[in-house]
Amino acid sequence: MIQYFEWNLPADGNLWKKLKNDARHLHEIGVTSVWIPPACKATGPNDPGYGIYDLYDLGEFDQKGAVRTKYGTKKELIAAIEELHKYQISVYLDAVMNHKAGADYTEKFKVREVDPNNRSKPISDVYEIEGWTGFNFPGRNNTYSDFKWHWYHFSGTDFNNANGKKAIYQIMGDGKSWSDGVDSENGNYDYLMFADIDFDHPQVVEEVIKWGAWVSKELNLNGMRLDAIKHINDQFIERFLSGVREVMEQEFYAVGEYWKQDINSLNAYLKDVKYKVDLFDVPLHYNMYQASKQGRSYDMSKLFDGTLVSQHADLAVTFVDNHDSQWGSSLQSQVEDWFKPLAYGLILLMEQGYPCVFYGDYYGVGGKESMHRGVIDTLLQARTNYAFGEQRDYFDHPNTVGLVRTGDEFHPNSGVALLLSNGEDGDKVMNVGETHKGEVWHEITGSMTDVVTIDDQGNGTFKVHGGKVAVWVKKTD
Ligand code: CA
Repeated sequence: MIQYFEWNLPADGNLWKKLKNDARHLHEIGVTSVWIPPACKATGPNDPGYGIYDLYDLGEFDQKGAVRTKYGTKKELIAAIEELHKYQISVYLDAVMNHKAGADYTEKFKVREVDPNNRSKPISDVYEIEGWTGFNFPGRNNTYSDFKWHWYHFSGTDFNNANGKKAIYQIMGDGKSWSDGVDSENGNYDYLMFADIDFDHPQVVEEVIKWGAWVSKELNLNGMRLDAIKHINDQFIERFLSGVREVMEQEFYAVGEYWKQDINSLNAYLKDVKYKVDLFDVPLHYNMYQASKQGRSYDMSKLFDGTLVSQHADLAVTFVDNHDSQWGSSLQSQVEDWFKPLAYGLILLMEQGYPCVFYGDYYGVGGKESMHRGVIDTLLQARTNYAFGEQRDYFDHPNTVGLVRTGDEFHPNSGVALLLSNGEDGDKVMNVGETHKGEVWHEITGSMTDVVTIDDQGNGTFKVHGGKVAVWVKKTD
């Protein structure tokens, strides 16, 4: 999978066109699915899409300052998706369902302020505020849906227009409360930002599931990346996916963003949604971030401790960085440059997990070319050609660790040995299988020119330079 955007893309409306032109290249480097950014109309044409205004405006109506979104028009988006499908590349839409922003008008309703660090704790009496919760989408004029949003479709907001006061306002009303089935951080983490959608309201549940089915059909999607699910009632997510999967003829993939380092929270969530959604392996990201910060003092044998991929390999989307972890973003925890080739080596060559390459790491950030593209290309090529067969792990040393894939009969010359070092130059005897005896292997990232001959038992003594990745495969003429 590739995440086809980063936070600082120019707001020129050209991403869908670029993606269309890039489809063949993505296919050639071995990409089989693309996570596209939020395509719905947000607060303005510069908004990356998470300040979502109208679920039904995919860059089609003159709303919020333009017809197009930051990334282009609906027509251009559909053309990009059609082109990707020509190359059998799946498309996953980033679905932002937790909140809405940029309301059309204010409404008056009753609230109470809650403690930002404990949203279960009221810190004011109930009183009336004037909040931005009225959405009637005049520019769309009821096309696709005539649903109008009002204050009672939301559970909270953060601005009182009557006096300009910012706070976390819990909206009061019959049967209204923060949602169950959300993360327990800050008492109850239902509220994240803007006007928080109330997924306990039956009209909301019906409307958003209806949208999910509509957008999946309209864009011919293969799946979704579900934004901010730790702030959304987990039972709604389960119903939403069931609802969308019911109307889609083909398999419909889903991966959720549950941004938490604690593996127990991820495991509990997966259980609650009956394992119907994959999750990004946030603990692995933080382990790699730590490793990249600590350098040689990090114990590399513990790199997979407490990670999702080590416990639920089939449900883990492994990634190095994303638009939120990159420098200057809200969850800034960017893996240091020296470690990125090591990190990509692991996620791309190991058998477990569904690896996701970040646009910023491949194409670069803010228009500046990435220094990692070359090595990612090599690793993708290694994944496509060599990373098959049984995996043998060698996470047996604090500084030099590795794994091998023994290759299989279906892929000629397959088999690969991966070695990482966060300390000195290192070497390790690893067994690639007896079927490889007598073969001469070489290193393909260009870090060394030595060769290794595999002995009769299938062992090779593979080398790696300090602070580098080494990828060894059979040398062919
Ligand atoms: Ca919420």
